[in-house]
Amino acid sequence: MAASQEGDLSASERQILQLITAGDVQEASLLLAREDVRVNCLDEYGMTPLMHAAYKGRADMCRLLLQHGADVNGNQLEYGYTALMFAGLSGKTDITSMLLDAGAEKDLVNSVGRTAAQMAAFVGQHDCVTVINNFFSLARLEYYTKPQGEETEPRLPPRLAGPLHKIIMTTNLNPVKIVMLVMENPELVDVAALEKCYQVMDMLCEQCVKQQDMNEVLAVKMHYISCVLQKCLAFLQKQDGKLDILVKNLLRGRDSDGFPQYQEKFIRDCIKKFPYCEATLLQQQGNDPTAFSVLTQAITGQMTFADAHYCATCGEKGADKRCSLCKAVNYCSLVCQKLHWFTHKKMCRCIQEQNADPEMDTPRFKELKDEDDDDTLVMETANFLQELCLRAEEQVAAAGGCPAELLARSSTD
Ligand SMILES: [Zn+2]
Ligand SMILES: [Zn+2]
Repeated sequence: MAASQEGDLSASERQILQLITAGDVQEASLLLAREDVRVNCLDEYGMTPLMHAAYKGRADMCRLLLQHGADVNGNQLEYGYTALMFAGLSGKTDITSMLLDAGAEKDLVNSVGRTAAQMAAFVGQHDCVTVINNFFSLARLEYYTKPQGEETEPRLPPRLAGPLHKIIMTTNLNPVKIVMLVMENPELVDVAALEKCYQVMDMLCEQCVKQQDMNEVLAVKMHYISCVLQKCLAFLQKQDGKLDILVKNLLRGRDSDGFPQYQEKFIRDCIKKFPYCEATLLQQQGNDPTAFSVLTQAITGQMTFADAHYCATCGEKGADKRCSLCKAVNYCSLVCQKLHWFTHKKMCRCIQEQNADPEMDTPRFKELKDEDDDDTLVMETANFLQELCLRAEEQVAAAGGCPAELLARSSTD
């Protein structure tokens, strides 16, 4: 295929750009199969179809273009913008990760010397900044899946690379979330596997410190993940293959105010054990902010506690299910709500009494308040929420409105 000159687009290529705007992946896929369509063609501004798709936030279209060989690092644009910069500007984290996975260079700069992360930060797309700064290529981890030098076996069994990489890439540093990621993968819930994984994490940590352009942020993250994996390992050895106990310990709140002391102490200890510097992070640690928020801010550059929409159990963002009794804590899923109930129930009633709400006097709530069995109560709560949503939906429908938003809120996952 001939190299593209700016603006010399064929009719089909112009059509591709229109299809990107319209989001018609199917039609675009048919067109891309034709010979007169160059996937890296440039419009009159020097923008490729991938840049257009990234800027417009069309993930499916980006995937399609990459499958057809789109150049992820092309920057013929007059101002030196790359597709990754457009993804960052659009604020789409899925596209940002997709481009990084496809080999997008995060250090390329535009004509004013700004990287993709800096551009994203400039327009306030902090989630994209976090994704870019925390990116760690699978290839770098896969290095350890092959024996090096004198080694007779690799330091990391190849089957563990995928699940471990998923943990490395998480931007949610809540230890409960990381333990959940371990539990999600049966391969990892194993003493020998965890041992290999944490040792590799320690090596990566050292590498991040010793590489030419030292990356202290990633080094702290690698160290922290290693600590969580070692904790899992200790619990597996002690508790007969059960990580549930670790999750419970991490969630249990102290009686006076529900503050999860064990979790706080665990994270503090992790930070203290960071072997490569004076752990300057710790110097800001009083009781407030928590060790978790200090760690998160250091690694992701974000303050996570600015609003309440984080899951009280696992720290996932966008947790839109509330405890229907106290309305003070949010959860990302029913699973998380259930996990938290054993400790939250101690605080829930106090909070309810503090914010005495007229709604509390409805008979349904009284019935719920008196129920004591953990599981039943959580299920009751969930059913009640579901009912409320359905009722609201009916009301919206009756009023001729659109129930889509409510539906989205009431879905269980
Ligand atoms: Zn959660
Ligand atoms: Zn509650």
